[in-house]
Amino acid sequence: MSLAVKFWGVRGSLPSAPTPQDWSNHIEGVIRNFFNSGFRDPSQISKFVQNMGVPLLGGYGAATTCVEIQSGHTQLIIDGGSGIRNLSERIMTGTTGRAKGPFHIFMTHFHWDHVIGLPFFTPHFIPGCEVHYYAVQPELEATIRGVFRQPYFPVPFEALKAKVFFHVLEPRKKISIDDLQVTPYKLDHPDPCWGLKVEAGGKSYAHCVDTEGTRVSREELGEDLPLYQNIDLMYFDAQYTLPELAEKANWGHSAAQVGLDIALREGIKQVLFAHHDPGARVEQILELKRQTGEYLDSLEQFAAQNNEKNPAVIWDFAHEGLEVKL
Ligand SMILES: [Zn+2]
Ligand SMILES: [Zn+2]
Repeated sequence: MSLAVKFWGVRGSLPSAPTPQDWSNHIEGVIRNFFNSGFRDPSQISKFVQNMGVPLLGGYGAATTCVEIQSGHTQLIIDGGSGIRNLSERIMTGTTGRAKGPFHIFMTHFHWDHVIGLPFFTPHFIPGCEVHYYAVQPELEATIRGVFRQPYFPVPFEALKAKVFFHVLEPRKKISIDDLQVTPYKLDHPDPCWGLKVEAGGKSYAHCVDTEGTRVSREELGEDLPLYQNIDLMYFDAQYTLPELAEKANWGHSAAQVGLDIALREGIKQVLFAHHDPGARVEQILELKRQTGEYLDSLEQFAAQNNEKNPAVIWDFAHEGLEVKL
């Protein structure tokens, strides 16, 4: 048994595709790289492109938060940002064999970037389909109904053909969806927002978006500390650079360095950073990545001076469409 995690939307705040000018600048950079790498012949384009990797070539994506987790025959979805539309397309092509569900959608909170795709989740409109919503917030049902309300969306909730169920979760209490266990823990975000620990077959995923990471020490985290413990993959909010984080206190988003501190202390094996700023293009995210690597190097040098060694951690910035198997 393993956990498979797919990131259908990794951007924060607002869906944000590159402008035509952004694309033009980016393509110019790619072509320049082609020649700077010593390639000359058009027949070498395919090899060059394959070596580049998705973010360098196609960017980090436009869609907002939506994560799919599968274990065996069980699937759950975290948040309904605009990324859920592409997931819906895949479901409706029938390749998964579960066009009628049941679908289990866990909501961390209800900011626009986490609900904007929900009306475009086609199973809502299929007779006989089951869609289950889960959240800690008691206003879950009223809020989801509100997403389908006119004049924001033409089809009212009452006209949906699927059977829709609502499940209000108890904070920090584990529930089971077949062979998946899910526990909500509080994050540091306005309104508020609940992260999720998802476990199956001895593997575990921690969903920590959106969070500012204002509580960092074990004492401050208190009863929410287990969200970060015994974790194979943590998905962490890294919308800002460290100086931006200081400027934007109480905005509810964090920086990669904060996530790395937690990961190193708790022995988290792998970290993916996300909730990319709507204004961040490839080059800005690569700069965040460079700063994060520099920070990790400085921590390692500091540890070496004290004859210590930090635990190994695999990390990167997530891009839309990325799949990780645990
Ligand atoms: Zn968000
Ligand atoms: Zn939010």
